[in-house]
Order: sequence, then structure tokens, then C-alpha cells
Amino acid sequence: MLPERTDVLVVGAGPTGLAVAATLAGHGVTATVVDRLASPPVTSRAAVVHAGTLEVLDRIGVAAPLADRGLPSSRFTVRDRDRVLLTVPFDRLPSRYPYALLVSQAETEAVLADRLTALGGRVLRPYELTGLDLDGAGATATFAGGRTVRARWVVGADGMRSPVRELAGIDFGGPADPGESFLLADVRVDSALPRDQVNLFLARQGPLVWAPLPDGTVRLVAEVPDAPREPQARHFQELLDERGPVQRPDRVTEVRWSSRFRIHHRIAGSYRSGPVLLAGDAAHVHSPAGGQGMNLGLRDAVALGDTLAAVLAGGPDTLLDGYAAARRPLAEEVLGFAAGLTRLTAVPPVARPLRDLLLRTASGLHPVRQRLAVRLAGFEPAGR
Ligand SMILES: Cc1cc2nc3c(=O)[nH]c(=O)nc-3n(C[C@H](O)[C@H](O)[C@H](O)COP(=O)(O)OP(=O)(O)OC[C@H]3O[C@@H](n4cnc5c(N)ncnc54)[C@H](O)[C@@H]3O)c2cc1C
Repeated sequence: MLPERTDVLVVGAGPTGLAVAATLAGHGVTATVVDRLASPPVTSRAAVVHAGTLEVLDRIGVAAPLADRGLPSSRFTVRDRDRVLLTVPFDRLPSRYPYALLVSQAETEAVLADRLTALGGRVLRPYELTGLDLDGAGATATFAGGRTVRARWVVGADGMRSPVRELAGIDFGGPADPGESFLLADVRVDSALPRDQVNLFLARQGPLVWAPLPDGTVRLVAEVPDAPREPQARHFQELLDERGPVQRPDRVTEVRWSSRFRIHHRIAGSYRSGPVLLAGDAAHVHSPAGGQGMNLGLRDAVALGDTLAAVLAGGPDTLLDGYAAARRPLAEEVLGFAAGLTRLTAVPPVARPLRDLLLRTASGLHPVRQRLAVRLAGFEPAGR
């Protein structure tokens, strides 16, 4: 049942909204968390949680139970068919979680929801936000059916199409092109590739990510010019044949889950407008190369939960401007990094030998490997 008033209304109970609410609950603040869906999605979606994110999640008691459900991956390998061009090891990361954790988004959301429940919070469903009136003292949120909630602060954790962002009039600029098209699946596959690493194949046709999942399946993500509406096993076999290993080719035996999505690279003009704060996909979207999207959102969420708790405990509102000012440049960096990974595949054939030489040279240099590992793992400068 919706309350009439609340200090913090969190719109959206995806990973970002759940993490904001769990962080607040850890500070003794009970937020009102709503989602328009009657029950949480059960699909796999974002499949990696990086060490830098696990360190942040550790502060809200989520990293250890999540690590129990995932598969640790000790390195990230960039390949051109059978040739290894670059290996980025995670085992020397300055972390209690020195790996990339492969785990389905449904599991990540379940662990976050369990933590929220243990701290006395819960998600109210199904409540769809349809209106938002902002004023100097907060906001009045309207839900489908006409119910209203008066909130001092509203967190837009409502995903890429964020109604909160739209209703608050925050710009989500970006190119008008149709965006990048991706095909993804969790498949069973006969493969000689080692299961302790995530592989990125740099193929002329586009990148292909191969990542082992804890249930024995493999997550495939490929950028494709035109994704079929209902991807079948043969589509993923074709992708492996044109981009994957040659000497011991992979054979797809079963598709457990598949999807397609199209994505733009976009960042909200501001993460704050009066009482409205944005986090996660509501604030930034970009290609899944490097598996950074959900990770950045989770780190936004803990930073925002800590900041809101400090403001509610009597700190100045300007702390929230600090949140907005600190987090937006991090999204710019992540977008640049993801775009750089994608560009590696777009190199014209004539320049490929040089690209490969550069990657192999980098692979031989410990400081470069370590810097790349820290970058991929999502460690952020202190105080962000
Ligand atoms: C098919 C698919 C595959 C993906 N694969 C990858 C991947 O491989 N790697 C990767 O990094 N990322 C991937 N992503 C993206 C990843 O899922 C997102 O980055 C992540 O979910 C963002 O979390 P969030 O909590 O910010 O937003 P979301 O997970 O989108 O959650 C937003 C929530 O807000 C709710 N909501 C929306 N509007 C309203 C409203 N008006 N009122 C109330 N509630 C509302 C929604 O129901 C939803 O539960 C994928 C996404 C999809 C759809």
C-alpha cells in the first residue's frame, strides 16, 4: 500500500533502485520503493559484476552472498579467432574479490532484494508512476489509477526510458541514429575454450563476447547489423563460425535464453533537478562491451544512498549537487571506454596487423595489463 508521504521515493526496483534502497536502509532510512512490474524479471541480462563494484557492494552487505552465487573469472582475454592478442588478469586486483563475477542479473537483483528485506525494507508492486509535480519542498508523484505520494526526494532508478527523467524535464541527448544492435543468448556449447575467463573476439564483422556462466551455459553477446526478432541456435552458431575459434570450433547444443536489444550512447544532462536524482540506466546508457552498464549503476546507487542519508541526517542539500557533479564524469569515462573497446573491432583490415601488434605489446607489459584490469574492474577515484 502506497504511503501518503515519504522522505525518499525510489522509482524502479531494478539493480539500481534496490541498491539505493538497501544503502538507505543500512543508514536507518526506510525509502518507499515502487516498480510498475507485478514481479521481478527472471531473465539473465547483465551477467558480470566487477571487483570494483563488489567492493562497493561489500559496504552494504551484498558482495559476499552475491559471490556465493556467481562464477569467478580470473581474466579477460582479447582474441582474433584462435590468436590471443591481450590478456588482462584480475587476480592481482587490490580487492577481496579479485575476479570478474559471472552471475545473472536476476540473481543480483534477488540478493539485493534479500538484503533490503533483511534491513526492513520492501518493494511495492505494481505501481506505475505517471506524473511528477516538482516544487521547492519536494515532489508529488502520481501513479496509474490516480494515487499520489508526496516525497521530499525522488530517485529515478527507472531505467533507460526513465519516466522520472522525462517528467523532470532532464535532457537525455545523443545522436539521432538508430543506435547499436546486439544479439545475446545463454547457450549450451561444446567448446575447448577455458571456463575461467571472459573472451572478447575482435572480428571484422563486429565484436563477440564469450562468457561462462555459473549454470554451465555460456553468455554470447554480439554486435550485429540487424538482429532477428526471435534468435535461434543457428544464428548463434553462425556468429561463432564467423567470429569464434577456428581450430577447435564451438558447437551450440541448446539456447537457454536469447534476446536482442538496440542501444544508444547517452548521458543525462544533469543527475539532479531540484528534488529529483537520477542513477543507473536512467542517467546513462552505452554498449555492453566490457560489461560496465549495470556496474556503474550499482556504484551510482550506493553513492546516492549514502549522500541522501547524510542529507536526511541534517547535511546540506548541496551534498546532492556533489553527487551529481561527481558521478556524471564517471559515466563519460565509462562511455568512452566502452566505445574504445567497440572501435577495436572497427579497425580496417589494412590497420589490423598494427592493432594486433599494439595489443600484444601491451599484453607483455605488466603495468599496462594492471591498469587495464583496474579500469575494467570499475575501481573509481576515492570520494566519488
Ligand atoms: C535483454 C537485455 C540484455 C542486457 N544485457 C546486458 C549485458 O550483457 N551487460 C550489461 O552491462 N547490461 C546489459 N543490459 C542492461 C542492464 O540490464 C541494465 O544496465 C540494468 O538493468 C540497469 O539497471 P537499472 O536498475 O538502472 O534499470 P532497470 O534494470 O531497467 O530497472 C528499471 C526498473 O524501473 C521500473 N520502471 C520503469 N518505469 C517505471 C514507472 N513508470 N513506474 C514504476 N517503475 C518503473 C522497471 O519496471 C524496472 O524494474 C541488458 C538489458 C537488457 C534488457
